[in-house]
Amino acid sequence: MIPYGRQSVDESDVEAVVAVLRSDWLTQGPAVGRFEAAVAGYCGDGYACAANSATSALHMACLALGLKPGGRLWTVPNTFVASANCGRYCGAEVDFVDIEPETWCIDPAALERKLQRAEADGVLPDIVVAVDFAGQPCDYDALGRLKARYGFALLQDASHAIGAEYNGSKVGFLPQVDATVFSFHPVKIVTSGEGGMLLTTRPEIDARARMIRSHGIVREKALLENATQGDWYYEQQALGFNYRMTDLQAALGCSQMARLASFLEKRQRLAARYDELLAGLPVCRQTQASGRRSAWHLYPVLLVDEPTRRQVFDAMRSAGIGVQVHYLPVHLQPYYRQLGFAPGICPVAEAHGRRALSLPLYPALCDDDQARVVAALKEALA
Ligand SMILES: *Cc1c(COP(=O)(O)O)cnc(C)c1O
Repeated sequence: MIPYGRQSVDESDVEAVVAVLRSDWLTQGPAVGRFEAAVAGYCGDGYACAANSATSALHMACLALGLKPGGRLWTVPNTFVASANCGRYCGAEVDFVDIEPETWCIDPAALERKLQRAEADGVLPDIVVAVDFAGQPCDYDALGRLKARYGFALLQDASHAIGAEYNGSKVGFLPQVDATVFSFHPVKIVTSGEGGMLLTTRPEIDARARMIRSHGIVREKALLENATQGDWYYEQQALGFNYRMTDLQAALGCSQMARLASFLEKRQRLAARYDELLAGLPVCRQTQASGRRSAWHLYPVLLVDEPTRRQVFDAMRSAGIGVQVHYLPVHLQPYYRQLGFAPGICPVAEAHGRRALSLPLYPALCDDDQARVVAALKEALA
């Protein structure tokens, strides 16, 4: 089976992890600091806080941005459930904004209409989570203007998008956003086994995230509420979690960062070749908006309708091609249905969820495999 995505781990990655195993630190230690510095340095200038998953990093971000029980978080339906669940972890109400029919990213016009209604009703969101779908950054200029007008915090879920560019800048410290989260799950672009990272240019968000990452505990003298009683002294100042990354994971992440440029180049080349090979087939591709450069986590296409998707999915799986669906709309998951959500609130994302199919895309996918994928798709569509 050709999988839809897979990690690329080489000898340099293995050696980096083994070196940590032979060292004094296994839990959060010097390798975590190195990984944070590597990712921050790659993205530009700001703070980076590693966590044991992007899910944890999203939760830390919501807490650090001040999301409270009864607060409100909005995101899109065509994402992994974690983009919405982070609001629920804080006791906030979650709601959904539709996507653009071309880029499949959050639709600023739909967001603006929803914000106008929410303002009239006195129920504006505290946080909007924008998801860089498949690796393409959202329209952050438009989102930044809405943020300035309506006063929400903008959280960028860039789990798909490390290495992507917006107006010539790597995503991570975009001036329009308050915080950005990357995922290092093995199907994503860079892996640490499990892992995530919270990036921000705001020092108070970073300091808060670091406290939450480790039980709400602070040790730095400057941050203590009371006078220190000695070098052993620490204070638990809030209810935090154990969201720490291990040095084993960070060493793998660091080693992978050295390979990121080659991963991106291969993904971009494979995506361009899919574009060519699929020309003329009855499928829609994601429009790449100008000024944005995708990191190509996924190569999704839209098929004509739902019955076609089912047939094409089954035919391709039988042919040994590991296609996947990204995503079943989050608000139609049983958990969100039970909170009262129903079909009809986000028609574009719902239609996307019925028709989307992701083709295999990962750095080691070879030209022959890619030709096999396209041949199987042609046959399934015929
Ligand atoms: C993978 C993913 C996450 C969660 O990442 P983990 O590191 O597995 O917790 C969150 N949001 C999106 C959009 C994702 O694709």
